[in-house]
This record gives sequence, C-alpha cells and structure tokens, in this order.
Amino acid sequence: MQLDPIIIGLLAVFAVLVVYTIFSFVTSRKPPAAPPKILTKIMCAEGNHNEVREFKEGDFVGKEVGKCPKCGSPLFIVAVYSEAQTLKEGSARS
Ligand SMILES: [Zn+2]
Repeated sequence: MQLDPIIIGLLAVFAVLVVYTIFSFVTSRKPPAAPPKILTKIMCAEGNHNEVREFKEGDFVGKEVGKCPKCGSPLFIVAVYSEAQTLKEGSARS
C-alpha cells in the first residue's frame, strides 16, 4: 500500500500542530489563581476614622460594627468589595 504524498503532508502538519499545542499548553500553565480576597470597609459616622479588614460572614453595608476609637461614634460598614489579586511575577522589566 502506498500513501498519497498529500496525506503524508497533512499528517505531518497535524503532528506538528498537536506537538505545538501540547508544548504551549505545558509551558503556559500557571499556578491556580488564589480566590479573590473579600474586604470590608468600615467608617466612623463622623468620617474621621476608617479601616479595611477582611470580610467576615454576616457583614453587610450599613451594619454597625462598634464604636470609633477616636470619637466614640458608631462605626458602620460602608463597602464590601473583592480585591482582585494580581500576581505580577516574571515581569518584563530588565
Ligand atoms: Zn470617629
């Protein structure tokens, strides 16, 4: 049985594509991304104190979470947001 040169050529191209795909997949594999950190921003009712801490279960915007250490006014949660963790490793800087 004789193989058509076109078939052989196509097989060669296909083989190169498969190898290239596997190679690029292996070399571009990145460590699994860390889950985004959820942060809670707390602000004093007087606006003279604010802090950001990690989100705790039960946090919601408008919740009173204590007293301001500076003026004694109630502290409220003003924002709950996620911080996208951008890992910049191997940057192109020379
Ligand atoms: Zn205050």
